Amino acid sequence: MPDPLTSFSIVARLEQWFARNGKDYPWRRTQDPYAILVSEVMLQQTQIATVLSRRYFERWMERFPDFHTLAVAEENDVLKAWEGLGYYRRARNLQKLARVIVDEHSGQMPRDYDTILALPGIGPYTAGAVSSFAFDKARPIVDGNVARVLSRLHDDDTPVDSKEGQSRLWTRAAELVAQATSPRVFNSAIMELGQTICRTGSPDCLLCPVKVDCKTTRAEELPVKSRRTELTDVDEHVFLFVNNESVLLERETGSRRTGMWKLPALADEHHALPVIHEARYGITRYRVKLFVHASPPEVITETNQSFIPLADLASIVMPSPYRRALTALLAFMNRKSV
Ligand code: SF4
Repeated sequence: MPDPLTSFSIVARLEQWFARNGKDYPWRRTQDPYAILVSEVMLQQTQIATVLSRRYFERWMERFPDFHTLAVAEENDVLKAWEGLGYYRRARNLQKLARVIVDEHSGQMPRDYDTILALPGIGPYTAGAVSSFAFDKARPIVDGNVARVLSRLHDDDTPVDSKEGQSRLWTRAAELVAQATSPRVFNSAIMELGQTICRTGSPDCLLCPVKVDCKTTRAEELPVKSRRTELTDVDEHVFLFVNNESVLLERETGSRRTGMWKLPALADEHHALPVIHEARYGITRYRVKLFVHASPPEVITETNQSFIPLADLASIVMPSPYRRALTALLAFMNRKSV
């Protein structure tokens, strides 16, 4: 059984701490459920610093201010606004969800938690985030930051990715948020504690507002995970072919990047051609080494390839690793930057 006094103390201290120290993110200045949803989806697999760096959230809200606008937008415009955030399936799913909300809920996010949870692509985390941040309802959220804080507060080494670990985390998060004066503030506070003080590795316990309630003496060892994500190394070989102020690009098919443009793949027999640019990037469980080669002597264009004028490059959707490589190579060639 949880100690209600301890829970109350944790919640009160965190709410007070957040009132003085909470960061001012653009998505914290609104209670619009659509804006909250957009920010949560953006932040699912992208760091806050990245989302802030190029005003992704603000630009998205200017371009697609509500469910209606997003529902009827061209897919290319949606993907273009997402360019640089990666994991483009999130943008496509957000648009599908917008269409469901327009068709079935008159373009308004439902307020009832179970109805939100029943929406396509919405899990307990996002339903909890929308319910608490937009509607100030006492619904728990557990992400990596919250899991780390709770494991340490309770000195619990149950693997956080196990069924039992997940069940404990969600139960504890629910017990805490139920005591909150403002669920919106409390959920923001516990996440921010995990981001700024109760960090991965060595936490800053001396600065921690809930130090007196924390049971652990082995914070560096917590949380425990049972599964490790094994990364697979792969090499990717592409080539650069610029001709008459156009560059040959290839449209991706059958992958999560379907419809986007990339540098064309280089057949195995040409891998000995000079490498003119090298980069590394990660996608899902792959650690990719990208080799951009000089063009083969004879290029036969495939049906999914086209020459794109350099002047049009800025308007097409291209995953960041290729855009960065192309920008660097064109700058080196003193061509117009993309
Ligand atoms: Fe985390 Fe340290 Fe605070 Fe415990 S005292 S919650 S380990 S920062």
